Amino acid sequence: MKHNFGAGPCILPQEVFKDAAAAVLDFNGLSILEVSHRSADFVKVMEEARENVKKALNVPEGYTVLFLQGGASLGFLISAYNFAGKNKKAGYVNTGTWSTKAVKEGKNAGLEVIEIASSEDKGFNYIPELNDIPEDLDFIHYTSNNTIAGTQFKSIPETNIPLICDMSSDIFSQPIDVSKFDLIYAGAQKNLGPAGSTLYIVKDSVLGKSTLDIPTYLDLQVHAKKDSMFNTPPVFSVYVANLNLKYMIKNGGVDAIAKRNEEKAELLYNEIDNNPNFEGTTEVKDRSLMNVTFRLTDDSKKERFDQLWNDGNIVGLKGHRSVGGYRASMYNALEIESVKALVEIMKAL
Ligand code: PMP
Repeated sequence: MKHNFGAGPCILPQEVFKDAAAAVLDFNGLSILEVSHRSADFVKVMEEARENVKKALNVPEGYTVLFLQGGASLGFLISAYNFAGKNKKAGYVNTGTWSTKAVKEGKNAGLEVIEIASSEDKGFNYIPELNDIPEDLDFIHYTSNNTIAGTQFKSIPETNIPLICDMSSDIFSQPIDVSKFDLIYAGAQKNLGPAGSTLYIVKDSVLGKSTLDIPTYLDLQVHAKKDSMFNTPPVFSVYVANLNLKYMIKNGGVDAIAKRNEEKAELLYNEIDNNPNFEGTTEVKDRSLMNVTFRLTDDSKKERFDQLWNDGNIVGLKGHRSVGGYRASMYNALEIESVKALVEIMKAL
């Protein structure tokens, strides 16, 4: 078995892989890959998946859950289009590659975009304070976990302005107060399921209120009215996401998951801080529990370290080219034994 520290698509529980594989061969007498999305059997899966998201995240009344396509990359545009208000002016917190892309799509939607805070001055290695927020913004957009930089918001920004969050890389890793948000979106391929579906949790009261003409597929109200079945949904991705949601709920939910994620992160950050061969790349207070970024203090040890972890059946440890060094992504299904294996290798260097 390999220890998968990849940044995404990522590891899911073995039990989920097995059940998913079984459904490829037999889902009520058909393959899940050939079943009609309009069949009663699949409609039930979609409904269950949407309900299980509500259950797992304790979503309050007044929100709709959708499984769409296009990844979080289309979410950048969908969020901007649907939340354009009378000022057509939006505030973005820029904490890395993915927020920079969100800013670009906000502009592509025709909005005036203000970067209300940014950590670009230090290569995105910290989470900036949000001060002096203009009052006339239609919404504020931020990225809860920066998959590439390895930083994570430790609290939800306090504001009365509608709040949108790209939670692609830390959704379902901890409890969240959904009531603080007007929209949460996330590509499925980290803690939810296989790539192919994108989760939206949207406050009902904002649907249909945009001041822009929205292309049909990008209009969340269109999807809400059709119960997430406006067009052919990503059937397999939703099916497996539902298996994983059931698995999460059965095994203690996001509270239990958060506890395990904290233990894993503590183990690895402790090694980074105590082993003179390594150093973290981000400010300690803003460290991500999902994506741990670090580097060697002496680059001449690179060849040996790379050999050690490759021989140790560890995959996906190479840092993103924009940050360099190493990145250990520790999504929910990564067992603490895998982190222990990595720590042993770091000790052996
Ligand atoms: N936002 C974040 C935080 C991400 O990590 C990613 C992908 N790694 C994206 C957006 C883009 O997602 P997708 O590939 O689903 O478009």
